[in-house]
Amino acid sequence: MYKFKAPKGTKDILPPESEKWVRLENKIRGICQRFGYSEIRTPEFEQTGLFVRGVGDTTDIVQKEMYTFTHRDKESFTLKPEGTSPVVRAYIENGMSSNAQPVKLFYITRCYRCENPQKGRQRQFHQFGVEAIGSETAVQDAEVISIAASLFKELNIDNISLEINSVGCPECRKRYYEMLTEHLKKYEDQLCGDCRERMKKNPMRVLDCKKDAGTDAIKLAPRMLDNLCDKCKSHYESLKEYLDAAGIEYIENSAIVRGLDYYTNTAFEFVAKDGLGAQATVCGGGRYDGLAKMLGGDSTAGVGFGMGMERLLLLMENKEAEEKKRTDLYIASLGEQAGKFAFSLAYDLRLSGFSVQCDTMQRSLKAQMKYADKIDAQWVIIIGQDEMEKGECILRNMITKEQKRLNINGVKDALIDIIKGNGE
Ligand code: ATP
Ligand code: MG
Repeated sequence: MYKFKAPKGTKDILPPESEKWVRLENKIRGICQRFGYSEIRTPEFEQTGLFVRGVGDTTDIVQKEMYTFTHRDKESFTLKPEGTSPVVRAYIENGMSSNAQPVKLFYITRCYRCENPQKGRQRQFHQFGVEAIGSETAVQDAEVISIAASLFKELNIDNISLEINSVGCPECRKRYYEMLTEHLKKYEDQLCGDCRERMKKNPMRVLDCKKDAGTDAIKLAPRMLDNLCDKCKSHYESLKEYLDAAGIEYIENSAIVRGLDYYTNTAFEFVAKDGLGAQATVCGGGRYDGLAKMLGGDSTAGVGFGMGMERLLLLMENKEAEEKKRTDLYIASLGEQAGKFAFSLAYDLRLSGFSVQCDTMQRSLKAQMKYADKIDAQWVIIIGQDEMEKGECILRNMITKEQKRLNINGVKDALIDIIKGNGE
């Protein structure tokens, strides 16, 4: 019995599904190009310290989901669980602060998190992410949000809503944390174990606990939005004005939180209304003005999002008409001499931009015709030993089933005209 399996929580992406991925990636690249965002590719693993940034970190990622390994008993590395810190690390390390600002980047990357696999939740998954580094304005937040919004629009995904919130700045958050902790203390014995921990380190994270959702502890909690300082309040109001101006609809949701200190102001999510079960959040993002400094760089503003591509593809299911892959031409041949001619003609036509296949299985002519049908070839050329000797070949239109003879001399140019639809 064969003994190897793909690791739990990983998936092979096979044709024709891989073609959906390519179409999605092309769409993403097209949109990012129009918005002026360039692609960045960072390593698959990083020094562990890049992701573990101190004791205040109560995110699931850092606390339980990282794949960490020690290199030759010396240095600790971690497979990237998210895309933002590597991008900010690269920005600092490569001196990108001297580029024209803001630096607008996007990535399509694998991420690794050790979690229980479920629908829309894997151990190796893919994120499309965007980071705009160097601008602290609300219009920059709105631009980043509008990239995600336009992707959903172009994919005809409309059962999705944008939820926004502000997590303030370290100053107004400090005051708010005191109020919130005061409030949560009253409910301490009703909170789940995780939340009793979070309460001490990072009370805002209690608000997005799935276990405690709907309890008075959360329903009656004071809202960050009601306790923003003037500057943060005006940033938030300004964001809403830009979204309104562009007609991008949103709901305000004070449970959208990013617990870490380096997150500031805008936090947002795109949440699917149905189709994804518990894994409804397709895209999460926000502003992280404190991150660059925390990583040892100069203080630099930044805003971005990460979008789960598996979840996005689940939403796209049934939305997308199957685009059938077509082969322009199949060259059927019999005998060695004809086979070599077929091989070289296929090579030439592929160089000229056509999708062409020829026999690599030494099949009979009949079996080759069957295969041509299977791969949905539009045209077939048949070259046997007889034809080779006469210097001609047979062209068959696979749709009308009509056949005619072509001279082998100049057959490449004749075929180019025919495939392009200029010939008969
Ligand atoms: P969740 O609440 O679903 O665990 P998260 O808060 O951990 O999400 P982020 O860190 O904000 O998610 O990551 C951004 C996006 O990446 C998510 O909105 C989701 O679409 C996707 N994502 C996160 N974890 C996974 C995973 N294990 N498998 C597939 N997609 C994921
Ligand atoms: Mg998670």
